[in-house]
Amino acid sequence: MKKILLISLLFSACSHKSNNSDAVVKARAKEQTVMSENKYPGIDFASKKDLACGMPLSAGVDDTAHYGGKIYGFCSTECKDTFLKDPAKYLAKK
Ligand SMILES: [Zn+2]
Repeated sequence: MKKILLISLLFSACSHKSNNSDAVVKARAKEQTVMSENKYPGIDFASKKDLACGMPLSAGVDDTAHYGGKIYGFCSTECKDTFLKDPAKYLAKK
């Protein structure tokens, strides 16, 4: 009788644990979303916007480029590549 009680306790402990890990996974996914919005905290970008497409960096920075001793942020690697192909052109636009 005692053994059965123990097993049912273990079972309920397990099912409780799996519910918790579900919540942890959801919390982590949320955390990652927040992190991707602010991938480079504390970096002083030379421009407040993505020079290739003109999007404000506050909307999210996915890649950065160093040019002329300054750091520029971009919404995507594609934008960074576009900028790096002809940085002078985009800097002149500013
Ligand atoms: Zn962009």
